[in-house]
Formats: sequence, C-alpha cells, structure tokens
Amino acid sequence: MINLETPKKAGALINQAYQAAAEVFRPISRKYDRAEHTYPSELDMFAALLDGLNSSGEGGAGAAGVRRSGKDDGPKGNRNGANLNVVLGTIEMCWGDVGLLLSMPRQGLGNAAIGSVATDEQLERFKGLWAAMAITEPGCGSDSAAITTTATQDGDDYILNGEKIFVTSGQRADAVVVWATLDRTKGRAAIKSFVVEKGTPGFEVVRVEHKLGIRASDTAVLRFENCRVPRENLLGTPEIDTAKGFAGVMQTFDNTRPLVAAMAIGVARAALDETRRILTEAGVGIDYDRPALTQHAAAATFLQLEADYEAAYLLTLESAWMADNRQPNSLQASMAKAKAGRTVVEVTLKCVELAGSYGYTEESLLEKWSRDAKILDIFEGTQQIQQLIVARRVLGKTSAQLK
Ligand SMILES: Cc1cc2nc3c(=O)[nH]c(=O)nc-3n(C[C@H](O)[C@H](O)[C@H](O)COP(=O)(O)OP(=O)(O)OC[C@H]3O[C@@H](n4cnc5c(N)ncnc54)[C@H](O)[C@@H]3O)c2cc1C
Repeated sequence: MINLETPKKAGALINQAYQAAAEVFRPISRKYDRAEHTYPSELDMFAALLDGLNSSGEGGAGAAGVRRSGKDDGPKGNRNGANLNVVLGTIEMCWGDVGLLLSMPRQGLGNAAIGSVATDEQLERFKGLWAAMAITEPGCGSDSAAITTTATQDGDDYILNGEKIFVTSGQRADAVVVWATLDRTKGRAAIKSFVVEKGTPGFEVVRVEHKLGIRASDTAVLRFENCRVPRENLLGTPEIDTAKGFAGVMQTFDNTRPLVAAMAIGVARAALDETRRILTEAGVGIDYDRPALTQHAAAATFLQLEADYEAAYLLTLESAWMADNRQPNSLQASMAKAKAGRTVVEVTLKCVELAGSYGYTEESLLEKWSRDAKILDIFEGTQQIQQLIVARRVLGKTSAQLK
C-alpha cells in the first residue's frame, strides 16, 4: 500500500537540512541576491558538513546519481535510498535559498552527471571534484541533440572545440562536464560527455550573466578552443551505439529533473509558509475542515495553492523513489519537473499578490522568491519540453513522431 509519510529514517537529515537552511541560508539570502557574482564564502564550512553527510552514505542536498547497473544494485525490494534523501534534503535547503544551494561546492549538476554515467574508476578519480554541466550552446537549448561542440580523438586525447552558454557554476566549479559530439554525421548517439578541469589550456570563461533571479549563483559563458582532455575523461563508453542513441547522456536527466523539481518544491513551500504567517497576522484563518467556497477569498486561494504544492511534492518523491528502486523513471521525472516548475511560478506570484504591496517590496523575501522561481521552470528542460516528453511516453511516440 502507498504510504504518504516521509520515511522515518530521513528525519535526521531533514532536520539538519532545515536547520542549515534557517540558520545559514536565510540570514544571507538577501545579501547575496544584492551582491550578484560575489561568492558566498559562508558556504565553505557548510559544504564540508555536506561532504561528511554524503560520504556517510546518507546523502545530503546535492548530487547523487541514478545508477542503473553495477555493484550497487543491492538487495531487491522496497527501499528509500540516496535519491529520495537528496530530494528531501534539497527541498529543505531551497526553503532556505535556492540560489545559495546552487552555489554549494561539489553539489553541481555535473556531479549528478558523473554520479549517473561514470565508470567505477571515474567515480573514484573524480571524487571531491565540483563539476558544473555544460550542454546549452548559442544555437541549441531545448533540442540538446543539436549540439555542435566537437570532440575529435587525437592519440590518447580528445580535442574539444565549441562554445557553451548559461553554465551554472561555470566560473566557480573545479570542472565542467561538457557535452560534445564525436561525429556530427552520426546524430545523437555520437554525443558524449567529457570532464574538463579548470586550468586546462584552451578552456576559457568568457563572462558571467546578470539575471532575474538566483543571483547568488554564477551563470557563465565558456569557450573551448583546441582544448585537449585525456581519453579517460569521456564519461561512460566511447562507443557510438546508434541503437541505444542518446540513452547514456539522457540518463543524467532522470536524476537532475527530480532534483530541480525538489528545488521548486522548497521555494514554493517557503512562499506558502510566509504567506500563511501574513494571512494569520491579518486575521485570515485557513480551515481544512470547511469547503474553500465558504471561506475568505484569500484562504480559498491559499488552499488551492497548497493542493498544487502537494501534488508536485508527491510526484517528485515518486520519481526519486523509483530511481532508488531501480525502476525507469524518465516519465515520472518529467511529470514532476513540469508540475513543480509550473507550481512554483504560480505559487510565488500568487503569494506576492496575497501579501499585497508588502509582498512586492524588498522588505519581504516573497519578492525574491517570485524572481528565483522562473528558472526552475526553464533549466533542465522547459515546461513545454517536459510536457512533450510526457506526451511522447504516454502516447508511445518517438521524438521523430512528436516534435
Ligand atoms: C540561469 C540559467 C542557468 C542555466 N544553467 C544551465 C546549465 O548549468 N547547463 C546547461 O547546459 N544549460 C543551462 N541553462 C540553459 C537552459 O537549460 C536552457 O535555457 C533551456 O534548456 C532552454 O533552452 P533555450 O534557452 O535555448 O530556449 P529554446 O530551446 O530556444 O526555447 C525557447 C522557447 O521555445 C519553447 N520550445 C522549444 N522547443 C519546443 C517544442 N519542441 N515544443 C514546444 N515548445 C518548444 C521552449 O519551451 C521555450 O519556451 C541555464 C539557463 C539559465 C537561464
């Protein structure tokens, strides 16, 4: 039978993440929203704590990996594991501040890619590395199969050439996982990911972007010009398997989409908590035992927002739970990301509205959260792209049949 309670054993982790969010993130949230591009040095101490949590096998608020095979298959049966823990931790931390979570050392989306597709040897070699992920290019965003960055084999190395844009932590991370094609004539199957470490000749950070929200997080443009990386830095296998196509690199998304959904849940809950406080202070009660129709209009709106939040929350937990239980979760990951991305945008804007002018000013974090929310409906696949993926899966259509 389905159990909607969070697993008891995750209680300690949730508590720790919540304390950190309340005591480390919230007090510096506005400071780094204003001081865009300044690294939040307060995070160093905290990152070390998270490293400890992750190495204990409990998982923290960062990047695990959806590993489909290998030694870690473990016992069969129903389990709540690393992916669920990461999602639960991420929700708490993003209740504190999503931009700061995205700035956490060693918790980059590139770390999720490494966790998902690296060989055991690579996992060991790249342990402790902070890795960003670079897919998007000036001519390719949603259609990641259209990337033009090339990786040409030369002896024991690959030579990378191309430009990547909008790379989260692209300036601060130790390395970047770069998607590049081995052979443009072979289509999506030839796309592989490469770990490129900072300081590699030919790898340049061109600039960082100014943004609407998540201003604590750096977003960089990167250029690769005859950038030579060792052959062993290609994640997974170099074979171009046209039957398997994109499967290797796409597997990363099965891990990162629930994570981004969890970020959205955290921000939405922050806005709901604050709005409940404001409504209560204004004398508006929220009664769960009476129909919304018979309550104050603000309370009725709040109940609707909460219902959407709950739906997004449960979809997100389901997608992470499936990953932990070795069940294919691409459909659920996209459903969670679509629902949570849409919900956080609606919830945060509605909360600004319910709080009136106060919600629109910098006196309140509601204003900030409504700006932070939108990216969660864009990166790791936009709302429209998630809906497209869901439609393809539900209708049994290929990407060529439904575009
Ligand atoms: C702050 C920030 C951080 C980011 N971090 C990263 C990162 O770390 N790594 C990385 O690689 N990228 C990152 N991105 C890039 C992000 O993933 C892309 O912006 C996103 O995938 C959309 O691509 P695009 O901007 O090129 O939009 P486009 O693909 O050009 O899409 C434009 C619009 O058209 C819609 N659309 C496109 N195709 C279809 C279709 N077939 N059907 C219906 N609608 C469609 C889209 O939903 C969107 O609304 C980041 C972006 C931002 C803003």
